[in-house]
Amino acid sequence: MTQKQGMTIAIDGPAASGKTTVGKKLADLLNYLFLDTGCMYRAATLAALKNDIDVHDETAVTEHAKTIDLIINSTDLVEDGRLYTVLLNGEDVTWDIRTPAVDANVSQVSKYLGVRNEMVKRQREYGRKGNVIMVGRDIGTIVLPDAPLKLYITATAEERAQRRWQDRQMQGHEASFDIILEDVIRRDNIDSQRKHSPLKPAADAIEIDTTQQSVDLIIKQIMTMIQEKQEVH
Ligand code: C5P
Repeated sequence: MTQKQGMTIAIDGPAASGKTTVGKKLADLLNYLFLDTGCMYRAATLAALKNDIDVHDETAVTEHAKTIDLIINSTDLVEDGRLYTVLLNGEDVTWDIRTPAVDANVSQVSKYLGVRNEMVKRQREYGRKGNVIMVGRDIGTIVLPDAPLKLYITATAEERAQRRWQDRQMQGHEASFDIILEDVIRRDNIDSQRKHSPLKPAADAIEIDTTQQSVDLIIKQIMTMIQEKQEVH
């Protein structure tokens, strides 16, 4: 498909809604840059935990988040199921940011305005060149409010927990469905009720419910939307 310069696609949605899988597949199809912003908040959380910083100490967490060197790389990947590599101060933390300890603390760290400002600044740097698909909670509302296409991807909490549980099994980790479901609901509550940049669809976002829908079908629907947008722009 022919592409116009500068197209950005914002994808938001609750935990484990399938937005990362969909976003990455679309980026590969379109040859766009892909950025999953959740990994940045996860890396800031891991950095605090590694340095024994109390995640409830807003000043300490924020000051530390500003100092971290974070590189997200989608090329030359190790073939272990990763969609991208995350380097925190030069160390490969791609899987370390997905542990239950990070799951348990990331929504607390993501509440802090100073942490968000720092991450949003870095995210906009990625978005500047256009031809980017960015995935998160506040991309359509705050990070890229001018994105010509905004999607809000949802599914029932049970289906999202089921998908997360399957991912964990495939990665060879013991996991309890009930604990994952609890975590998904707990994070959604904190993320959608926080003061700064709460999880919510942008006024002009198109909502897609992925419950019991195949990824291929969703991709097909979104590709049609992209074509329509490109004809208009
Ligand atoms: O997308 P993922 O589940 O990896 O995100 C982890 C956490 O990072 C979310 O639960 C949320 O607290 C935070 N986050 C955020 N804003 C974003 C992306 C993620 O607050 N744009």
